[in-house]
Amino acid sequence: MMPDPGRMKSAQTGKTSIMSQPYNRVYNFSAGPCTLPVEVLEEAKEGLLNYKGVGMSVMEMSHRSKAYEAIIAETEASLRDLLSVPEDYRVLFLQGGASLQFTMLAMNFLRGGVADYITTGTWGSKAVESAALEGKANQIYTAKATNFDRLPTKSDLSFTPNANYVHFTSNETIQGVQYKEDPAYPGTIICDMSSDILARNVDVSKYAMIYAGAQKNMGPAGATVVLIRDEMIEKVPSGLSPMLDYRVQAENGSMYNTPPCWTIYMCGLVYKWVAKLGGIDAMQKQNEQKSALLYSTVDRSNGFYKGHAVEPVRSTMNVTFTLPDEDLTKAFIKESEAAGFDGLKGHRSVGGIRASIYNAFPVQGCADLAAFMGDFASRNG
Ligand code: PMP
Repeated sequence: MMPDPGRMKSAQTGKTSIMSQPYNRVYNFSAGPCTLPVEVLEEAKEGLLNYKGVGMSVMEMSHRSKAYEAIIAETEASLRDLLSVPEDYRVLFLQGGASLQFTMLAMNFLRGGVADYITTGTWGSKAVESAALEGKANQIYTAKATNFDRLPTKSDLSFTPNANYVHFTSNETIQGVQYKEDPAYPGTIICDMSSDILARNVDVSKYAMIYAGAQKNMGPAGATVVLIRDEMIEKVPSGLSPMLDYRVQAENGSMYNTPPCWTIYMCGLVYKWVAKLGGIDAMQKQNEQKSALLYSTVDRSNGFYKGHAVEPVRSTMNVTFTLPDEDLTKAFIKESEAAGFDGLKGHRSVGGIRASIYNAFPVQGCADLAAFMGDFASRNG
């Protein structure tokens, strides 16, 4: 059923705009939580009062019920299919956000040894700071001096022999810096994939562990997906607090305590939506197309817009750029909000604009923003 046409208020700006999108939704460029696929929201709405004749919604059902057991099993199976997760990996749905993983992985895997950290942005910085509270976290690279606009080259890196693991962040959400392929780092690789999981093809078998908060490419906030190789679980020391122990979480199928049932269910719907659209290959292609619309506008603006990240590693997920001065930045944000583009203000550490365009963000929204950018530059350049 199509919604009534009309006006709607933006959650973030309180402004009213008329859009041609279904349900008069605005273009939501938020970095996460963020846009979810309309089809997924519609399906969730369908089961909101009575999920498949069970007589209650997924929000209300016991996590120990048959119906919910089927939901979590199906969700895991869909994710395994999408990412071709090898047999010897566990899939966990944990809580505490990706931020708790910064601490938890260090508690489980530092074990008196050393780990190498490659820091290419704000989230990588937080990961190494959290790990340093648990043991020896050795930051072997940081791009801080250039305000995190790049990735390390091979010669920038000198790995610690026999490090327990190497940690990096595949997409830095604030700076918009992204690894385009799985890096050939030695040893046990752990990756924070919060802001580009399911957005481009990765070979899971190259990673000992991948973790990602749900609220960008997978669903609403509340769950963190962890893909972890069995042999890592065998390394977990005894005596950890059960909630922070990967072995306990794996042995209990992510149900040591009450899991974030609704978020997991929503992730399952998103996984099926991705599969229906052609899987990760299709997402990657579309993400390249969407980000190219914006980057080409930046590149054609004769320096009016300046990309933050260096060209080869600029993100397909978070497009970051600045304008000539603060007044123009404020004017851009004000006018873009009035035109129905939500959430474009960049993070204060980078300034300027950040357009977060995850999998569910529509191609048309990028085309419309590119047109707006072109027009704004021609009026103010
Ligand atoms: N890592 C990355 C790359 C992120 O973008 C974020 C959140 N924006 C986090 C970690 C922290 O996630 P959470 O808020 O789920 O703790």
